[in-house]
Amino acid sequence: MSRTLAILKPDCTGRKLIGQVLARIESAGFKILATKMVRMTGETAGQFYAVHRERPFYGELVEFMSSGTAVPVVLEKENAVSAFRNLIGATDPAEADAGTIRRDFAESKQNNIVHGSDSDENAAIEISFFFSEKEIVENGRV
Ligand code: UDP
Ligand code: MG
Repeated sequence: MSRTLAILKPDCTGRKLIGQVLARIESAGFKILATKMVRMTGETAGQFYAVHRERPFYGELVEFMSSGTAVPVVLEKENAVSAFRNLIGATDPAEADAGTIRRDFAESKQNNIVHGSDSDENAAIEISFFFSEKEIVENGRV
């Protein structure tokens, strides 16, 4: 079993698609280990996407990610990173395979509903960006 980080982006929450998207994720066999609702600032969104700092879309991406509520979700499955990338589809919904979440819900290359980590190493970094180990269900007791 391995983990990945999903983020339901502000377009997903704004269009009231949280339930539908989480249902697709659970139906695909992922276990939800942790989730919360956050409002990212320009600073935190900029840090999260720092790898894209030099790209032309960076400014608008940061603005979009800090424009509304986001829902980070820690997911567990065998080969979670690649299984989740397959479930969400290509970055641009016009290029995403039929049956993928982005193909079915996304409106544009930027407003593409959901983030998914791109490697096990980045998944660990991104999970710790939003969650402490105590917030992950196996480890937390309240
Ligand atoms: N993005 C964009 N324009 C582009 C490429 C990416 O607005 O030409 C946005 C989009 O929201 C994407 C995010 O930046 O999900 C991160 O880009 P990346 O290439 O990492 O795509 P992902 O890993 O999310 O498929
Ligand atoms: Mg990426």
